[in-house]
Amino acid sequence: MEGRVVNAMGKQWHVELFGDVCFHCNRVIEGDVVSALNKAWCANCFACTTCNAKLTLKDKFVEIDLKPVCKHCYEKMPDELKRRLAKREREAKDKEKQKKKKPICL
Ligand SMILES: [Zn+2]
Ligand SMILES: [Zn+2]
Repeated sequence: MEGRVVNAMGKQWHVELFGDVCFHCNRVIEGDVVSALNKAWCANCFACTTCNAKLTLKDKFVEIDLKPVCKHCYEKMPDELKRRLAKREREAKDKEKQKKKKPICL
């Protein structure tokens, strides 16, 4: 847990007291929590950003700007964009590797 704090009822509360806050609607998730892309989502909020089709973790989806996009929409995207996304993903992974190699002293 990263110790997020929310303001409610004039006080600050640690999110853990309530449960997960949905990345999409910023509300405390009641019911099923979908954990994807390192975020928590309400089962209802986890949907394709492009066509709004509801997604589950069983569906294939692609992460674009931290938002899920269904396989269908992804396939319709221009190759140029797909290439850029693939490149960015590679770069992000490389960065992660470098981070692990050289821990940053604070
Ligand atoms: Zn939500
Ligand atoms: Zn879609």
